[in-house]
Amino acid sequence: MTADVNKETLGFQTEAKQLLHLMIHSLYSNKEIFLRELISNASDAIDKLRFAALADETLLEGQGDYEIRVELDEESNTLTLSDNGIGMTRDEVIDNLGTIAKSGTASFLESLTGDEQKDSQLIGQFGVGFYSAFIVADRVDVHTRKAGDGPQEGVFWESRGEAEFSVEAKPKETRGTSITLHLKKDCEEFAGDWRVRSVIKKYSDHISVPVKMLAPEPPASDDEKAPEAAPAEFETVNSATALWTRSRSEVSEDEYKEFYKHVSHDFEDPLVWSHNRVEGKLEYTSLLYVPAKAPFDLWNREMARGLKLYVQRTFIMDEAEQFLPLYLRFVKGVVDSNDLSLNVSREILQKDPAVDSMRSALTKRVLDMLEKMARDSDSENYANFWKHFGAVLKEGPAEDMGNKEKIAKLLRFSTTQSDQEDESESLEAYVSRMQENQDKIYYVVAENFNTAKNSPHLEVFRQKGIEVLLLSDRVDDWLMNNLQEFDGKSFQDVARGALELDSDEDKAVREEMEKASEALVERLSAVLKNDVSEVRTTTRLTESVACLVVGDHDMGAQMRRILEAAGQDVPQSKPILEINPTHTLAKRLDREADEDRFADLAHIVLDQATLAEGGQLHDPAAFVSRLNTLLVELGTD
Ligand code: ADP
Repeated sequence: MTADVNKETLGFQTEAKQLLHLMIHSLYSNKEIFLRELISNASDAIDKLRFAALADETLLEGQGDYEIRVELDEESNTLTLSDNGIGMTRDEVIDNLGTIAKSGTASFLESLTGDEQKDSQLIGQFGVGFYSAFIVADRVDVHTRKAGDGPQEGVFWESRGEAEFSVEAKPKETRGTSITLHLKKDCEEFAGDWRVRSVIKKYSDHISVPVKMLAPEPPASDDEKAPEAAPAEFETVNSATALWTRSRSEVSEDEYKEFYKHVSHDFEDPLVWSHNRVEGKLEYTSLLYVPAKAPFDLWNREMARGLKLYVQRTFIMDEAEQFLPLYLRFVKGVVDSNDLSLNVSREILQKDPAVDSMRSALTKRVLDMLEKMARDSDSENYANFWKHFGAVLKEGPAEDMGNKEKIAKLLRFSTTQSDQEDESESLEAYVSRMQENQDKIYYVVAENFNTAKNSPHLEVFRQKGIEVLLLSDRVDDWLMNNLQEFDGKSFQDVARGALELDSDEDKAVREEMEKASEALVERLSAVLKNDVSEVRTTTRLTESVACLVVGDHDMGAQMRRILEAAGQDVPQSKPILEINPTHTLAKRLDREADEDRFADLAHIVLDQATLAEGGQLHDPAAFVSRLNTLLVELGTD
């Protein structure tokens, strides 16, 4: 801090410093977006004042015409953007412009690669904002005053976008914020009238506040005695109507895309959108977007989510979460209601039945929009959506029982028919390929795709040509428990309970096999009685000697591992060991007369079955030592 009590020089927060650096370097190829970001902030500031003035009109200081002005000075190479919005106090200036409040910023920064190309994509997901000013300016001045404060309360902030910024008191007559960019030498174009107008038209046409610039001067007249030129006037450069109030046919695709960037702070185009006006018992307009990429904080519990809420065109709040369920938290957009009161609060939103109806209608809209995308012949979009948001959508059936069937249609899975881990099969496609007498949808759950794909449980399904869903997402076990059925067919975990795949012929073979293996099963049960609940023979294996099966009502292996990893007490239930008596190793076991060696072999078979499904051994050292003993014996044979 300097000696002057008035003027402080402060350092940017570490994260802010990193972000500034990154922004300047990675967005250089798309510099003009700084204007969109600053106009977006100015428009937000005006929205906030408009809302605050509903409760306290004196904040307007008798001036209720909102506007944003952009003034250029080619001589000094500056661009100044002023708004008469809410403004900032000294503390707010320090907080808002010196730090980054978004939760998860530190981990976002850690995810950066140092590769500018890739990082510029990431920064888009993070959302740029005020700091984008430093892409084009080597010095930025902010002069601001909070609406309602006296002119003496004005604050002046200044920074060169390096390590520091300074703040000092500086009186300001009018409320709001004025930002002056001292443009870099190679960014002179942004002091030029034509260039700036075209950028505003391109990016900020839909902003509901007028964005004004000085009208071009009329061409100089030769007539020396011409009357003194009238003072230059400001004229509105953008359309200045809220985009969602226009009818669909009047809004171009580009305008929809730019508006998305304004509401979402996203840098990329959205995947799809849906714009609707509802009239009837409830009246509202909604404009909902599905982003192309997951935001950096999709899995952060505090991530910003929800829609921008307007009531009769007046901005009420950001992040109104009540209009969509949690599993659609990636949706961005606007809802403008004619029924809610202007002084509606978050608490009221939670209880208002009108909000409930809107929520179910909007949820349906989003699901319909996704369904349409999935149906479109160009399904690349949906595959892209699924890659980014599939895991979130999988939370749906548990949260929203009413739409379970609709959500189930949107789910995508890998199956035994996929070569790679591409989740691209719908349940409808699976059902259409089901065998004639197949009445269940089979699935296997494992830690990862390869473990699932190579699970011994699949052997008999391969043999019989029955398709199985391969699940390896953390939420999958839970998803299946909630789904229960699709199209009248129940889901069956292939590692759970007894299999009922057998034809009459198979049954006869099995009964015979069971009889022949009675002695072996009995011996195994005795040796493994502490580790398994039961030993039984199986026909589900063709290549492996054994596998583990979970009881019908016990917790699945994947769910158990997740809960245990989260430090929870999980009720202990022992698995069932199923063995394949036709396997050479089973026959070898059956012949083994030495009880100690039989016990060692039996434990190895059990441990191998555990490993094959990606489980952890209770006593890995014992496994290694048993295996080594056997290997040594092999060598000395
Ligand atoms: P974001 O807009 O995503 O919050 P920014 O970095 O663009 O992030 O801005 C940080 C904060 O600074 C804003 O949230 C807002 O509180 C404040 N701010 C920025 N521009 C203005 C402005 N023109 N008037 C008032 N406050 C502003």
